[in-house]
Amino acid sequence: MPASTALTFDVKPNQKPLAESDRLKAFENLGFGTLFSDHMAVIRWTSEKGWHSGEITARAPFPIDPASSVLHYAQEIFEGMKAYRAADGRVVLFRPEENARRFNESARRMAMPELPEQAFLDAVEKLVRIDAKWIPEGEGSLYLRPFMFASETFLGVRPSKEYIFCVIASPVGPYFKGGAKPVKIWVSENFTRAALGGTGAAKCGGNYAASLVAQAEAVEHGCDQVVFLDAAEHRWVEELGGMNVFFVMDDGSVLTPPLGGTILPGITRKSLIQLARDEGIVVEEKQYSFEEWRADAASGRLREAFACGTAAVVAGIGTVKFKGGEFQIGTGETGPVTTKLRQALVGIQRGQGNDQHGWLHPIEGI
Ligand SMILES: *Cc1c(COP(=O)(O)O)cnc(C)c1O
Repeated sequence: MPASTALTFDVKPNQKPLAESDRLKAFENLGFGTLFSDHMAVIRWTSEKGWHSGEITARAPFPIDPASSVLHYAQEIFEGMKAYRAADGRVVLFRPEENARRFNESARRMAMPELPEQAFLDAVEKLVRIDAKWIPEGEGSLYLRPFMFASETFLGVRPSKEYIFCVIASPVGPYFKGGAKPVKIWVSENFTRAALGGTGAAKCGGNYAASLVAQAEAVEHGCDQVVFLDAAEHRWVEELGGMNVFFVMDDGSVLTPPLGGTILPGITRKSLIQLARDEGIVVEEKQYSFEEWRADAASGRLREAFACGTAAVVAGIGTVKFKGGEFQIGTGETGPVTTKLRQALVGIQRGQGNDQHGWLHPIEGI
């Protein structure tokens, strides 16, 4: 297939979609990632044919050979994005080109084939179009999960010669059960997430596998999430298991750890930096140590902290726990700067704010 030819999708509608009454009933109690729409998008890649056999089809299991390479060597990457129903009824994606680009950065790091950005966007849009009725109204959204895995039947250690790209969709409510309540964070001093030269900047399943035992430790200590320190010195705050972190200082400035290979370049992070600067807030991408964090929380120099990502959007951090004790940030409640930035972002995503940077990507014809 010449590179200039757009990939086409065979559309095979699900013959047994979930009944509308069952769907609406399920919508009454939306969690995160438990309910799935009727369809999925699939594109296959082989070293001989490249990307081919695009389809939109009924969501169904994949037959996987036990020797499929992903099951042994974890060549797998993913993205996370949302389709929203805007205030004016349009269905919109938020900066999906950024997801397509980051997907390919992850692919390169994991020695996987890059997917043309247009094919990524087409797959996502076509899935949202066919499953538009799965987008909840109000605060909910349709969480989209594009992913790719190595599917060659082969146990040798080298990049697979076959891959499956797929997009599934899951209607979601708020990520944290407590809603907008501030979260409690556990500082992991035993486990690290990513080292220089490793895969920390790639959105790969393996990073999450490595974070789960630390997350379990957080939960044992009554916390919602874990925050990781750097692998070399166990000193610098990096990010949460699946979210970036920001600090709001008493002079009104905002600080977030710099990207540098060990931190996932979040699209929410990048957007909030821009929105804060639009508001005239000074934003520094600067290293911040756990020691400073504790001292600044005690002295009052630190006013607020929050975590951010597509799934949870913006979540205030109220309390920080670690092996030696715990401390509170500000009043322990979600602070005003956190709230303002959250509202600015959510306003744009819901089509109510001023989308001055052109971040919204409407899906026509729904
Ligand atoms: C996906 C992810 C984020 C957040 O990225 P967004 O693009 O804002 O959703 C942050 N950290 C990790 C480790 C992630 O996997």
